[in-house]
Amino acid sequence: MSGQKSVVLATANTHKAQEIRELLSEVDARLVSLKDLGLEVDVVEDGATYVENALIKARATAASTGLAAIADDSGIEVDALEGRPGIRSARFAGEGATDAENNALLLKMLEQVPKGERTARFMCAAVYVPGTDCPEEEIVCLGEWPGRIGFVPQGESGFGYDPLFIIPGEGITVAELGPEYKQRHSHRFQAFTALADHLKALR
Ligand code: IMP
Repeated sequence: MSGQKSVVLATANTHKAQEIRELLSEVDARLVSLKDLGLEVDVVEDGATYVENALIKARATAASTGLAAIADDSGIEVDALEGRPGIRSARFAGEGATDAENNALLLKMLEQVPKGERTARFMCAAVYVPGTDCPEEEIVCLGEWPGRIGFVPQGESGFGYDPLFIIPGEGITVAELGPEYKQRHSHRFQAFTALADHLKALR
């Protein structure tokens, strides 16, 4: 991709937008947010998978702006809960739930689950949808970050389930490890690094 084409980042989550901007910093495009454009794109994320939900967001944004759009959808899957909360991670404790409420519910549901059975993974789908009248194809990339759920929230950095997610080999949570470590290892890092490689190859 070249020539400083404008691409809209279809997320209202400022933490995620910041992470994504850094991960796509080597792509030769002007990344603009919906906020920069003074737009809100309302969609119902009713897909059955991360990929479907990311495509719903990016397609709606491309359709309403005419510009290419990038979106992601992510969540956490806990083995002891058969993969829940998954695509419902943001609203696990109910519509509009805070991170603290979601974390508290997760800890409660895992109260009786011993350390060795608290395995989990963060998942991310990152997608690119071309602008209207552009012959490019849609691009879909995935990332997965394995770990396990702790017994109490620990650490201050990041967002969402970061204070509960313990990285194998490090023994401390993502929220304790801090942003630099997360930026080089996370599910979002993996999905967007792959997406950046595809975008760099576009002409
Ligand atoms: P999304 O904005 O629909 O992708 O919702 C993702 C939800 O999954 C967030 O609100 C968090 O609860 C959780 N999540 C996704 N990625 C992360 C992460 O990197 N750290 C912590 N929680 C995350």
